[in-house]
Amino acid sequence: MKKHNFNAGPSILPREVIEETAKSVLDFNGTGLSILEISHRSKEFQAVIDEAEALFKEMLNIPEGYSVLFLGGGASMEFCMVPYNFLKRKAAYLNTGTWAKKAMKEAKAFGEVVEVASSADANFNYIPKGYEVPSDVDYLHITTNNTIFGTEIKEDPEVDVPLIADMSSDIFSRPVDVSKYICIYGGAQKNLAPAGVTFVVVKNEYLGQTGRYIPTMLDYRTHVDGGSMFNTPPVLPIYTAMLTLRWMKKQGGVKEMERRACEKADLLYGEIDRNSLFTGTTRKEDRSRMNICFVMAPGYEHLEADFARFATERGMVGIKGHRSVGGFRASCYNALPKESVEALVACMQEFEKERKEDKQ
Ligand SMILES: *Cc1c(COP(=O)(O)O)cnc(C)c1O
Repeated sequence: MKKHNFNAGPSILPREVIEETAKSVLDFNGTGLSILEISHRSKEFQAVIDEAEALFKEMLNIPEGYSVLFLGGGASMEFCMVPYNFLKRKAAYLNTGTWAKKAMKEAKAFGEVVEVASSADANFNYIPKGYEVPSDVDYLHITTNNTIFGTEIKEDPEVDVPLIADMSSDIFSRPVDVSKYICIYGGAQKNLAPAGVTFVVVKNEYLGQTGRYIPTMLDYRTHVDGGSMFNTPPVLPIYTAMLTLRWMKKQGGVKEMERRACEKADLLYGEIDRNSLFTGTTRKEDRSRMNICFVMAPGYEHLEADFARFATERGMVGIKGHRSVGGFRASCYNALPKESVEALVACMQEFEKERKEDKQ
């Protein structure tokens, strides 16, 4: 049976990217060696990382003066590296859920942290708006897409302070005005690559300003100067990231990714709103296009496990919601074909026909 992969992360990658990676695991570019056993200092791998960096810059239209880094450690490591490198005295954080809270916790070790707004009052089902950002902060940190709660900041905010964003789960799903940011980072395992590599975009002129000693591996300048090769980088995930970027370019770039994301999200939210058995969990204007959360409608809560089984039997994978929201979460990343969303919608419709009478 065909599987429809709605995993939240690590998550679906384009089939042709997986096939090309598999080939290179056996024989990389006719070298007679596996990508798993070549030196990161070889000219063959240098060409891979150079192309990954160039395509990354091209896809996001990154202006001059920025570096793109491929590091280990995950987005979670950046929660600490960001304040280590950019927080001099005071930073502002927008609290939109679990990941934002984790980022804020680390920043507190480096200076004063102002929570400019929070949606904790409604279990993070919306994005706070109209908040004031103190003008004397070193930066405002936002989480553009809240993978767990299914809300998303779909436009780059207008603020008068430097912006920093965790874009782990919506990078490359829309055009971004990178010039507004001094740093953009994320774990690559949602829209770009298998787990193991973290992307970081930094504005070079903002580095080296805190006056504090930064341990070598946690200092962005180390990795800018070393071209992400100060130490051994995650070779295979960087290679796959490069292939995903090639794929994305061939498809039409981030504008096309955005068009597809809107199309898929409209389809699924449309069904959630129409189907009497299900209901959305987030405010409509803040709905994420990447992580679509829904629960059983009032009166049908007892059917949750039943639907989970029903969907699994029809090939749906990874739709169980995060424990802090419950219900269901369908992650619709770039590589997820529209056919998979159509299959989920058909499954919800079929379930409604069969169980509508079972209201408690
Ligand atoms: C997945 C995720 C993280 C954590 O990433 P790791 O690479 O596992 O550290 C952080 N922020 C967001 C928004 C995420 O979706």
